[in-house]
Amino acid sequence: MKQCEGGHRAWIELDRTNLAKNVAFFRGMLGEGCALMPAVKANAYGHGAALIAGELQRFGVTDFCVASVGEGIELREEGIKGQILVLGFTPQTDFALLAQYDLTQTIVDADYGRKLCEYPGRLKVHAAIDTGMHRLGIPWDRPEKIVRLAAVENLNLTGVFSHLCVADSREDWDVAYTREQIARFDAAVKELRLAGVRGFKTHLQSSYGVLNYPECHYDYARIGIALYGILSRKEDAGKECGKLFPVLSLKSRIACIRTVEAGEGVGYGLAYVAEERSRIAVLPIGYADGIPRSLAGKGYVLIDGKRAPIVGRICMDQMFVDVTGLPGVETADEAVLIGTSGQEQITAEQYAAWEGTISNEIVSRLGGRLERIVKVG
Ligand SMILES: *Cc1c(COP(=O)(O)O)cnc(C)c1O
Repeated sequence: MKQCEGGHRAWIELDRTNLAKNVAFFRGMLGEGCALMPAVKANAYGHGAALIAGELQRFGVTDFCVASVGEGIELREEGIKGQILVLGFTPQTDFALLAQYDLTQTIVDADYGRKLCEYPGRLKVHAAIDTGMHRLGIPWDRPEKIVRLAAVENLNLTGVFSHLCVADSREDWDVAYTREQIARFDAAVKELRLAGVRGFKTHLQSSYGVLNYPECHYDYARIGIALYGILSRKEDAGKECGKLFPVLSLKSRIACIRTVEAGEGVGYGLAYVAEERSRIAVLPIGYADGIPRSLAGKGYVLIDGKRAPIVGRICMDQMFVDVTGLPGVETADEAVLIGTSGQEQITAEQYAAWEGTISNEIVSRLGGRLERIVKVG
């Protein structure tokens, strides 16, 4: 049976061509005046931050956002240039790292802004504006707080941004709320300009903000999930006009196959009991690699273009699939957990639906132990 180059135990294949297509799709959609600021936090949603950011840099992307100072440092150490915005909180003890690695820090609220001012060097900052999500940011109707911070010599205010919290929904109420958030952001930006604050860039939309509100135009768009060719939910398919392509495939290779008799149990808790004489394949990938333990009994993997149901409890490092119906399957055959095999495909959206969650959670939990390979061509 077929062997795939690379990939010995459990691995992720990244499709560079699909990433390039997704970048082109969003660039076309955003137009000239707006640059991509890809979200490469959480190890680029499990894809591998250094690999993805490196590819994006080759495609001419110069701005990135991450969640933590550590993620920013990792990118710098991998040679990523340009602007790296830390979207989340950085403890005061790490402010020196922001300066050392030329990372841009989010002002998460006014008190935090004052702490940033105390740092005895100059820091690049973007002010978060809370327009209704009530997570991070200075309230949209208190722009004077940003004006005061912008006047502090130590702070180099290079941007202001906000975040939409219901932009993924097309329900009337959510659309109205999003429009209100947009209006509040615009109002706050206008106030800053009127107060004489200059030289800052603006950004508001993430993936769904761009897909559902393409008429908005800011200097950057912080696109995460959709840039990887994934939507949060299966039902959302269509928003991207069929122009996004999944970058990630998740694969493993059969470690061994055993026959169990009718009535015999498999794995921890003997949670799966064979109803008939069955061939059970063991895959060397488990919940420590990000496969949800609760996936057992819900989904399937693809082997040689055919479905093999997941059975038994997912172990930390291994899992079981039933290959009784696939007599040609042998040890060392490739099993696709996310991706295509023959005519069949398991999308991250499908996988997330089995688990009752969004695909963002599924991919961002893919573990550090997985090998990551960029597929060229
Ligand atoms: C994660 C995140 C993004 C990216 O969101 P997607 O929905 O994945 O595109 C953008 N902005 C902020 C503030 C984020 O936390």
